Amino acid sequence: MKIDVERRNNLKAYHSATHLLHESLRRTLGKHVMQKGSLVAPDRLRFDFSHMKPITNKELEIIDKLVNDYVSNSSEVTTRIMTPKAAIEKGALAFFGEKYGEEVRVVSMGKEKEAYFSTELCGGTHVKNTKDIGKFKTVSQSSIAAGVRRVEALRDKQLEDFIKNKEKLSTLSNQKDEETIKELSSQIIKLGGNPNVDNKDLKEIIKNLSRQLEQLNVKSVLQDKSKNIIKDDKINNINVRFQKIQDLPPKDLRKLVDNGKKELGDGIVIVFASSEDKVGLAIGITENLVNRYDAVNFVKLGSEIIGGKGGGGRKDFAQAGGQDKNKIDEAYEKIKSLI
Ligand SMILES: [Zn+2]
Repeated sequence: MKIDVERRNNLKAYHSATHLLHESLRRTLGKHVMQKGSLVAPDRLRFDFSHMKPITNKELEIIDKLVNDYVSNSSEVTTRIMTPKAAIEKGALAFFGEKYGEEVRVVSMGKEKEAYFSTELCGGTHVKNTKDIGKFKTVSQSSIAAGVRRVEALRDKQLEDFIKNKEKLSTLSNQKDEETIKELSSQIIKLGGNPNVDNKDLKEIIKNLSRQLEQLNVKSVLQDKSKNIIKDDKINNINVRFQKIQDLPPKDLRKLVDNGKKELGDGIVIVFASSEDKVGLAIGITENLVNRYDAVNFVKLGSEIIGGKGGGGRKDFAQAGGQDKNKIDEAYEKIKSLI
């Protein structure tokens, strides 16, 4: 059966690759690397080993290169039978604490003059020549327990498929990003801005453009007299500003309150911002009035009317949210009655 042969060859190759990987990890990360677990499947391998910290990209590159160097060296895989003592003298990696019989099977790969790159006690089946492993790459690493890391690797056909899929996904995501960038840029241009696309990374460009668009939106809303209504009043000799803004996200409220305080010099600033089905309320009180008024009380009263849940803050600044923008004027009147 062809499929069975293919499956067996893949298992042999992944198992053999594990030998090379094990030794590459030890040479790159240090001799503390000990096998803690291993899975060999016909389409991947997994290897768990003792190591305290994440493997850096640089280290991973070196590890993969070592494995690939021994694959492209096309070296014979040799199996010898010897006593455990002789095997240990040859530097074979063995599991300490495990009982070995009179004779052990020693598998070596990657001949270097008289020694081998990798020598392990192993009873499994291996490729005849390291070239049968094919191109190799570690594709993930993770921590599975304290001091134990797991790497997963692919080779040959499965690696090719993996890379092809990744490229496909990355092209798709690039196309999507480019569309997003075009869309954001055209919106920025409509608002009279100059899109900032000065970055190599598409995701960064999107982040910058989104920020730029948000700032322009805020600016344009503030300049629009039909969306940004400001009414300055004097109530019981106190300067009171009532500002009502449409299409502004509540997170920009604080800045408006601060600006209002500056412009009034002393007084109370009450700002409502509404966007879609949300209303934000923020109230600021200048320093000289905090012994008479408490922004938290004002905000609590206001938020009850606009369908919010109380809100909070300090005496000189407090804010709350709600849902009913048709009740903004009513809320303002109620707050006014406290002044
Ligand atoms: Zn083996």
